[in-house]
Amino acid sequence: MAPPHRGSRPRHIPQRTCVACRQTDAKRQLVRIVRAPDGSVTIDPSGKHSGRGAYLCATTECWQAGLERGVLPRALKIESIPEDNLDTLNEYARHLAQGQ
Ligand SMILES: [Zn+2]
Repeated sequence: MAPPHRGSRPRHIPQRTCVACRQTDAKRQLVRIVRAPDGSVTIDPSGKHSGRGAYLCATTECWQAGLERGVLPRALKIESIPEDNLDTLNEYARHLAQGQ
């Protein structure tokens, strides 16, 4: 007999999937990118913004795949990332590269 648990609902750990490498390892640091209703695409470290979100590992490889191979716009269901926002995302990817 299994010992009784307080509250019988199984605890669900939310699984995030990197849209570039498809890894779901919860230990990996994933960065949320969100497309706002107005079409702008921003990084959402708090994970609180509403809109369609996609996740990328905090690695240069995944950001390059997301930004340069068009994985990210596809995941966000848009044609392309607005240029203004792309600058910010590229900047973020550069920071990742420097931090490694
Ligand atoms: Zn990844």
